[in-house]
Amino acid sequence: MRYISTRGQAPSLTFEEAMLSGLARDGGLYVPETIPQMSAGDIRALHGLSYEETAFRVMRPFVGDGFTDEVFADLIAKAYAGFGHGARAPLVQLAPGHFLLELFHGPTLAFKDFAMQLIGQLFQEALERRGERVTIVGATSGDTGSAAIEAFKGLENVDVFILFPHGRVSEVQRRQMTTPAEANVHALALDGHFDDCQGRLKDMFNHFEFRDSVRLAGVNSINWARVLAQVVYYFSAAVSLGAPDRKVSFTVPTGNFGDIFAGYIAKKMGLPIDRLVVATNQNDILHRCLSSGDYKTSEVHPSISPSMDIQVSSNFERALFDAYGRDGAAVAQLMDELKAGGFKVSQGALEALREHFDSGRVSEEATLDTIRTAHSTMGELLCPHSAVGVRVGEAQRQADTPMITLATAHPAKFPDAVEKASGIRPPLPNRMADLYERPERVTRVQNDLAALETLIQERIAK
Ligand SMILES: *Cc1c(COP(=O)(O)O)cnc(C)c1O
Repeated sequence: MRYISTRGQAPSLTFEEAMLSGLARDGGLYVPETIPQMSAGDIRALHGLSYEETAFRVMRPFVGDGFTDEVFADLIAKAYAGFGHGARAPLVQLAPGHFLLELFHGPTLAFKDFAMQLIGQLFQEALERRGERVTIVGATSGDTGSAAIEAFKGLENVDVFILFPHGRVSEVQRRQMTTPAEANVHALALDGHFDDCQGRLKDMFNHFEFRDSVRLAGVNSINWARVLAQVVYYFSAAVSLGAPDRKVSFTVPTGNFGDIFAGYIAKKMGLPIDRLVVATNQNDILHRCLSSGDYKTSEVHPSISPSMDIQVSSNFERALFDAYGRDGAAVAQLMDELKAGGFKVSQGALEALREHFDSGRVSEEATLDTIRTAHSTMGELLCPHSAVGVRVGEAQRQADTPMITLATAHPAKFPDAVEKASGIRPPLPNRMADLYERPERVTRVQNDLAALETLIQERIAK
């Protein structure tokens, strides 16, 4: 299995190389050259398997021979051992024909743990075998940073530095980043916005001398290994509702298009998925694009579902690559136009996207209203991101096909919005109830590239 770039100009890589490098050298994203298929018989054989066994069968053909079967199975077992629910991704019923896939039972209470916990294990194994060390630097508006720290803390061949905007993440998110005591974890509170954090991160990747000297690696959602880990729960959920003998649809609260793109890969592998519905908050570039073909950036409007407050949806490039018949030059051209503010998707490509994807947008008021009514009529306390999904999933559900909406975070991660809507302040799960008592460790940093690079070099030299 080889991986190719969406812009057609970078060399093809193995799974392991694509995972360790993250972004392709031509600026593109890696995708598998061909999509492995699962027959109806293969899917039927998943009935009754544990989440870990399902994960092994779904991901194995993508991973190649860098990892043996035994090692790969062992890494999957370690990745999910710390989850607070035996089913890992339990499915609960909300209404007739509408189900909620709870993806928030991992160590940091958001779906990002599914991918991050696994790639922590895969990185460690690959680096140990190669006798290499890397420095992971990430920028976060909250959930990615805590998931990365939780996954990489204590691993021997990795230092992890996370830049977050000082004073602009929720208290739970901050404490999840600042309370791990392991020496290879470095939480950096930057004086600036999330865009400044992301900007300095990009500057480091473009500063090749620094990048090579610290062996910089990236684990944001453009890393193919993260998409792959998310394909698994589309299979486990659909199989619990009768796949391959019954079709299902999914609604996915979407920001960077990583999670929903994993659903598209599941469908391409042979899972009978009818519709994949993109649910956005008021930052609705994807909804506008799927409706009109215009992909135009505007300002980010901060919302109560902050993990979806983005204006450039990086994984959408992977969907465009397929919609344009895997023409890397056409994708490179669109991405050039994006730098100048936006592009128009061709009629043919828009039709190709609409064959799989629908979309909907939810206002702030409707999000709060959904948290309130889901609690009173469906018995479920939703986080604001999941509420955006449930609102759209309920509106787009069709009578003959079950709708599965992805619940992307635990309500206790966003207690203020949930309390405002429902009057209930959701408590943290028992296993992290002492989060507010643990000592914090954080370094305040200026929005200054040279100072950041010096700090990172000094820390890893110790
Ligand atoms: C990251 C995140 C999302 C958006 O996921 P994408 O893969 O970027 O589309 C939605 N909800 C929560 C809680 C998140 O942390």
